[in-house]
Amino acid sequence: MLQLFEKIINEDGSSAILKDRLTILKDMYAEIEKACAELQAKNGALQSELEQERSRADRLQNELDTLKSGVFAKYVCDHCGSPKLTRKGNRPDPTFGDLGVKQLIFSCQACGQESAFIEERL
Ligand SMILES: [Zn+2]
Repeated sequence: MLQLFEKIINEDGSSAILKDRLTILKDMYAEIEKACAELQAKNGALQSELEQERSRADRLQNELDTLKSGVFAKYVCDHCGSPKLTRKGNRPDPTFGDLGVKQLIFSCQACGQESAFIEERL
């Protein structure tokens, strides 16, 4: 676009032709300004939409975290009842290990103690 402007200005011509070209340039500039204003308005609307979607995603993540804990938690700490467990691995169950039954080992983020659960098989 700038190259086009430069070409139009630099080409030789009478003052009447130059005036026509300046008018064309002014019109083009006005159109560009209008397009720019429209894009800025669209950008503003999209930014505000993005903010709303981000806060919605945060809210849903919090709800999901809540649903994953408390009474909905699959496993809670044997010692303090916290659902904030970190999986550490597994080991053969002391009683049923010979039958291939495994224990899932978790470390509690709240009290630091270890809990073990028999792996559920569906
Ligand atoms: Zn605990």
